[in-house]
Amino acid sequence: MLRLIRDGRASTRAELVALTGLARSTVAQRMDALLAQRLVVPAGASASTGGRPPKTFAFNRNAGAVLAADLGATHSRVAVTDLAGDVLVETRHDLPIADGPDTVLSWLEETFDVLLAEAGHAPGDVRGIGVGVPGPVEFATGTPVAPPIMPGWDGYGIATRLETRYGATVLVDNDVNIMALGEYWSGWRDTAHMLFVKVGTGIGCGVITDGRIHRGAQGAAGDIGHIHVAGQDDVICRCGNLGCLEACAGGGAMAARLTELGVPADNSRDVVRHVRDGRPEAMRLVRQAGRELGGVLATAVNFFNPGVIVIGGDIAHADEHLLAGVREVVYRRSTALATRSIRIARSTLDDRAGILGAAVMVIEAVLAPDAIDQAIATGT
Ligand SMILES: [Zn+2]
Repeated sequence: MLRLIRDGRASTRAELVALTGLARSTVAQRMDALLAQRLVVPAGASASTGGRPPKTFAFNRNAGAVLAADLGATHSRVAVTDLAGDVLVETRHDLPIADGPDTVLSWLEETFDVLLAEAGHAPGDVRGIGVGVPGPVEFATGTPVAPPIMPGWDGYGIATRLETRYGATVLVDNDVNIMALGEYWSGWRDTAHMLFVKVGTGIGCGVITDGRIHRGAQGAAGDIGHIHVAGQDDVICRCGNLGCLEACAGGGAMAARLTELGVPADNSRDVVRHVRDGRPEAMRLVRQAGRELGGVLATAVNFFNPGVIVIGGDIAHADEHLLAGVREVVYRRSTALATRSIRIARSTLDDRAGILGAAVMVIEAVLAPDAIDQAIATGT
């Protein structure tokens, strides 16, 4: 019922009876519970064809606050949102994740408290906390697992620490998954199956299936950066294998290649700058990286049949060169059926995708039917 009201598909008890097939008495009883939880509020009377107009109800997006954090390698975004995922207050801060969990999480807790006050909320209003980190996470426990660029974080209980402080549900996931969810939520909810590819220093992919993040057995789903690319066996990857996609098409690899070619570049942003300046070496490398990525995605398209592929990350800013390379190979190499209506688009949220996805991830969890039933049963 809450889902139907949130989505705007129902606003009266009669509509809920019609859409759910539940008895009038059951709908009335459950509506009373949602009203008591303040998740639903009266919204006045609707137009009627005669007689007393039926009461209408609306989702109360202000029935609590959500804390969201997108912790990046070098900088982080933190926000307070309402229960619809709309940002109330937001801040961005330069802080290396390599400073370790004590420094970073102490800063995060202080920032959450300041932003909550700015948004006019008390710590007790927090219904959920969503956090993204730049490394692999055991989702069930909210714990980073052997993250390569997060020294000191391996096995650290991020969720446990924040749950203890705020007494709210805490979900932690890797940055690419939350970006995928943010992009999906903001622009592609009419498409149930989506791939989101982040091309920055490395390459990662978030997989959305039936509107949810697909994490796989060990949370490693979508790790396309370490898929082997034919003909690249002379390239050594940081993972120890030869010919990984990331080692030939990632922003870090391209920066190194450009430097070898006499065009100095330290990182993926430098690569983009050279493309925008019209350096032919940079344009050629990014176009070729798009083709290598397209080759891996063509396989993924045949296997997974997504409705849309969204490309984000720093290198996606290299104008159309990256996407052109991706499109060229995906349309040539994937089956006609799988590509018949596929869309390949650039990220519209850019580096705000993560913060939105972190909020949406935890909102969907705390407003899920099971969670609502439990909250009603325990009166919390
Ligand atoms: Zn690798």
